[in-house]
Amino acid sequence: MFNNLSEKLTGSLNRIRGRGKISEDNIQDAIKEIRLSLLDADVNFKVVKSFIGRVKEKALGEEVLSSVSPGQQFTKIVNDELITLLGGDAEGLVTRGNPGVIFLVGLQGTGKTTTTAKLALHIRKQLSKRPGLVPVDVYRPAAIDQLQTLAKANDLPCFPSDPSMKPEEILEKSKKWAEENMVDVILVDTAGRLQIDDQLMGELKRLKEVWDPKETLLVADAMLGQQSVNVAQGFHDAIGISGLVLTKVDGDARGGAALSIRETTGVPIKFLGVGEKVGQLEVFHPERLASRILDMGDVVSLVEKAQDVIDEKTARESARKMAKNKFTMDDFLQQIQMMKKMGGMESILKMLPGAGQMMKKMKNMTPPDDELKKIEAIIRSMTVAERENHKILNGSRRLRIANGSGTEVKDVNKFVKQFEQSKKMMSQMMKMGMGRGGGGMFGGGLPF
Ligand code: GDP
Repeated sequence: MFNNLSEKLTGSLNRIRGRGKISEDNIQDAIKEIRLSLLDADVNFKVVKSFIGRVKEKALGEEVLSSVSPGQQFTKIVNDELITLLGGDAEGLVTRGNPGVIFLVGLQGTGKTTTTAKLALHIRKQLSKRPGLVPVDVYRPAAIDQLQTLAKANDLPCFPSDPSMKPEEILEKSKKWAEENMVDVILVDTAGRLQIDDQLMGELKRLKEVWDPKETLLVADAMLGQQSVNVAQGFHDAIGISGLVLTKVDGDARGGAALSIRETTGVPIKFLGVGEKVGQLEVFHPERLASRILDMGDVVSLVEKAQDVIDEKTARESARKMAKNKFTMDDFLQQIQMMKKMGGMESILKMLPGAGQMMKKMKNMTPPDDELKKIEAIIRSMTVAERENHKILNGSRRLRIANGSGTEVKDVNKFVKQFEQSKKMMSQMMKMGMGRGGGGMFGGGLPF
């Protein structure tokens, strides 16, 4: 979502870095560029104004430190202010209560129902609690079905709401249901509307009064830009919200909503929806997003993602094999699977420092994930014996593999050569002591 903004901001900052010395003049240039980049990204103009004011004041007021270059110092100021703009420290989810109650509110189509299921999975996995889903959108019959289907697919308890019931009645009954099913956090998928109206707000207010939820999360669509900021303000004024979930951040929204919503409403963003699948929810960390925007990478999130999907035993085994130069094509296939689980090569690369610049250079190359797909098809067309020992791959075997994988012999040749080279390199690196202790993220790094 932030590609464009990130490219422009890093461009302005790099120009300052290149100059070696910071002066009022070149800060003025950079500040002008930053202002334009933010406005271009659809950030609210009032937010831009106060942001720029703070950056300028700090930059001109700060003593130039001798240990860092003035450009670096300026980048740090921009980074710090971005973090403040995004909300400072990450704010956790409140799940206390007996049972804990979380309301999800928002307009139709923003991703409220999907987010309810995503959040339940997050609570189960990360907070080790037993969440239960309660659909109270009785006006759109499909909404109840949708949540029940998601619940079933993910083995989550879901209250059997019926469109003939009133929301108040559902909530009343669901308390007993939660007790019987040992649910300790109830996630209420409230009714949505196409736009804010008094009837909806009245209902939400009533339900909130009876239930006193410790969290009322507004699900807002990042693609709607400034409009979602107005919606958030509207909900907050009418019923009071405690946090925001910004969805569809994976789309090509310009980022304005994420950058304006906290400062405008004062409500913290708590989660980001980064895809349609139920696993695609990220805890919102202002400092990490600021780093991503300034192309400084987000290695912490990357490592967390890796910890989530990588099985430590497999990683250690891979590292051991690499050190002994016994790494096979099957092991390689396993690593491709892990990368896929982490969202693909491109999403991994995007989290590394300088990723924006790197991606730009790679523009004319085959996208890395397409390349990996090809390699996967090639390995899958090999026999067990071939995967164990690629040395037996003679001409006729290579032709068969090319035909079987829908590639050409030259692709197979290229891959085998790359595999051999990286295998050698990895084994040397492991011997030199790199990638010890489980072998780093992928058990010693990727063999290419
Ligand atoms: P509701 O009407 O607010 O309950 O919205 P739904 O949960 O039915 O979602 C509306 C559409 O948005 C569906 O097609 C979802 O798959 C999609 N969606 C929800 N969250 C995300 C997200 O984070 N990223 C993307 N790309 N799509 C999402």
